[in-house]
Amino acid sequence: MTNFNILITDGLEESGQSILRAASRLDDKAGISAADLIQAVGDCDALIVRGRTKVAAEIFEAAKKLKVVGRAGVGVDNIDLESARKHNITVVNAPTATTQAVAELAFGLMLALARDIPRADGAMKKGDWLKKELQGAELSGKTLGVIGYGRIGTEMGKRASAFGMNVVAYDPLLQEDGIKALGADPVSIQELYEWSDFISLHLPLNVQTRDLIGPMAFSQMKDGVRIVCAARGGIIDESALLAALNSGKVAGAALDVFAAEPPGATDLVKHPKVIATPHIGAQTAEAQARAAEDIANEVLAALRGEPLRWKVN
Ligand code: NAD
Repeated sequence: MTNFNILITDGLEESGQSILRAASRLDDKAGISAADLIQAVGDCDALIVRGRTKVAAEIFEAAKKLKVVGRAGVGVDNIDLESARKHNITVVNAPTATTQAVAELAFGLMLALARDIPRADGAMKKGDWLKKELQGAELSGKTLGVIGYGRIGTEMGKRASAFGMNVVAYDPLLQEDGIKALGADPVSIQELYEWSDFISLHLPLNVQTRDLIGPMAFSQMKDGVRIVCAARGGIIDESALLAALNSGKVAGAALDVFAAEPPGATDLVKHPKVIATPHIGAQTAEAQARAAEDIANEVLAALRGEPLRWKVN
């Protein structure tokens, strides 16, 4: 046992907690408020969060001995990386743990959109038989445009290829040869909008990508395009999407993430052409256990000054 104090604020699977307990004092304060966190963080060497806790500037200001913040998952948009840098605090994540889970959900959402599976099930449960109304579309032979061909985008592309889809990808940070080697045809964003029957988003949310999918983007897309987003809320301009659904430009959208979460029963969530899920991309038993173990090992490595695999800042 060493004398590291580690605070967990969004829960962590037991497999990760037991790694941490073997080497530190562990405080599990799942659901702690922002105000209480400012008090609690003072004495911590490490803080481990998921997406709920906002690790804002005031948390870093209040942290007297904090050395590392660990994100049990991928997205670090809830962590003020600039403040972390200013206070010389390392941020690490577990970027590979949830890749398969999110890709499988995104692919499932695309199939559900193509065949209107949630509506079919909802009608059956009410005793209705919507056979004639529920004429769907096939994936085979269609073009999937993947925006952001990183870990999850690539897995989505592989699954789509296996279903006989043509996969095109836009990723400005990758070389064309790299995208080809990962099994997709590299295209410009305009070509992707123009050619895709389905579009799936797998890019991060940042200042460049906020509201990327807005009125201009929709105007360049095929009529009847279907859109899947299991990346981050805020990449799609939700009011523009609602307008595009109402005009028929977009035939359907499947959304796992929202600009504000939870969004409540908004017009977008309630829209008959929308399939909405409550940010469950990474919510599989396997992904959560993997993320907990990865982040526990990475945080301990940071505290011990060992080489890091997933340093974010
Ligand atoms: P990744 O870093 O491996 O891939 C992201 C890719 O997006 C990179 O290749 C990058 O070059 C590309 N990119 C960056 N800016 C771009 C832009 N302007 N246009 C197009 N591409 C751009 O990340 P990942 O692990 O594949 O995660 C992808 C997304 O999935 C992230 O937004 C992440 O937050 C989200 N995610 C969601 C869930 C969920 O529960 N729904 C879970 C995990 C991750």
